[in-house]
Amino acid sequence: MYWVQVLSRLQHRLKPQTFQNWFKPTHQVHEDDDQVMILIPSPFFRDVIQGSYMSHIQACVRECGLKEKELRFVTSTEWESIQMKNRSLKPVHPDLNPLYTFENFVEGQSNQNAYAASRAVADHPGMVYNPLFIYGGVGLGKTHLLHAIGNFVYQQRPQLKVVYVSCDALMNQLVEAYRRGTVHEMRKYYRTTDVLLLDDVHTLGGKERTQEELFSLFNILYQAGKQIVLTADQPPQKLTHLEKRLISRFSWGLVTDIQPPELEVRMAILIKKAQIHGFQLPDDVALFIAENVTENVRLLEGALKSLIFHASTRSQPISIELAREAIATMVGSSPTTNNVLEYSEISRITIDDIADVVSNYFGFSKETLFSRSHRPRIVLPRQITMYLARHLLQASLPEIGNYFKKHHTTVMHGVQKIEELLDHSPKLKDQIHEIIQILQERNQKRRTRL
Ligand code: ADP
Ligand code: MG
Repeated sequence: MYWVQVLSRLQHRLKPQTFQNWFKPTHQVHEDDDQVMILIPSPFFRDVIQGSYMSHIQACVRECGLKEKELRFVTSTEWESIQMKNRSLKPVHPDLNPLYTFENFVEGQSNQNAYAASRAVADHPGMVYNPLFIYGGVGLGKTHLLHAIGNFVYQQRPQLKVVYVSCDALMNQLVEAYRRGTVHEMRKYYRTTDVLLLDDVHTLGGKERTQEELFSLFNILYQAGKQIVLTADQPPQKLTHLEKRLISRFSWGLVTDIQPPELEVRMAILIKKAQIHGFQLPDDVALFIAENVTENVRLLEGALKSLIFHASTRSQPISIELAREAIATMVGSSPTTNNVLEYSEISRITIDDIADVVSNYFGFSKETLFSRSHRPRIVLPRQITMYLARHLLQASLPEIGNYFKKHHTTVMHGVQKIEELLDHSPKLKDQIHEIIQILQERNQKRRTRL
């Protein structure tokens, strides 16, 4: 790797402290014929590196006998935006998360049957297992696999109609269709599906109308040889709160489960997720988190997000100490397996909560935050909200964009603006810490109320 070679030379040229501060936290994320992209913890690193060390770097490039390439230093936010531009060259299904792919799914003993079945179904929709029924606990990758099937079919066979819907959404759509008198159109839409991906069927309990619609839909698609994939938190025979004729159909094809991942898989998932966010997670840190967060993958991600947030706000390299601290500050005590449940509280915070607290903090209404105002006293809080959504929730740029009804590049500029300001303004740092504290307290209060 280009940058690794440069670094190994650079290490001998610079004072150990300098190298430790400015180069240890960097790593290469991309290389092609003309350029190399290097991830940096904050924009400040770019100023320092380009301001003071470029001649050293160029000398190292020559010493290593490497081709001269453009070196681009990018923050994780910039890197995500670059990746998104590349990704959008390929068509993306509007209802599917483009990151939930087979490539991004880590296989292990706990999920290997479900994974293999999903791949087979994606390769030969309607031909192998129909329906495919995947069940397992919360946060174990059921939705991820459904999207992976959808993304795969959508890429490989664009002529097929892929529909993803959660049963909750299905019910809401049905209610809406009844209200507007458009049930007929809705049926037509669903009944012309080639691959139906139906998430969380266990939530259909008590929703008789929806079950009835689903029953008809199932029969029509099944008889036409269309692929149906379902997920639930229990195997079909345990879904006793659903209609019998429906659950018997659920087990006509293949029923497969996902169990909580083993330690090695948890580690591999952490390392892969960190890569997607543009971070390199050292093995010892991955092991530390994987040993402390065992229950489900969503919690694992929560811990990782918290760590990345801490690393990026302090421009520090990722280490076990930082992981311990990141976890501790998020949950208010030291990490033990008992605290795992509390991680899920992090994910209860939404962009809307952040917008609430931020607008309150600056003394105006949340609507003002959404206004078109370009006045600095409004723009800055808006950017702070974007920044916190990005780093605290690891929300994607399009997600934040949707919330504010703004283009994702606007969000990127907003987040970057704060990242840049943070390097120079202790006042802003204090403000942001206060806001985070208020958010945590609010969350804590909400928890005790529950
Ligand atoms: P479920 O639908 O079972 O509740 P999700 O599919 O929403 O769970 O998964 C929760 C999170 O964990 C997602 O971000 C998903 O990408 C991730 N995840 C779960 N299992 C895996 C895996 N084996 N490899 C990679 N990511 C995983
Ligand atoms: Mg799910």
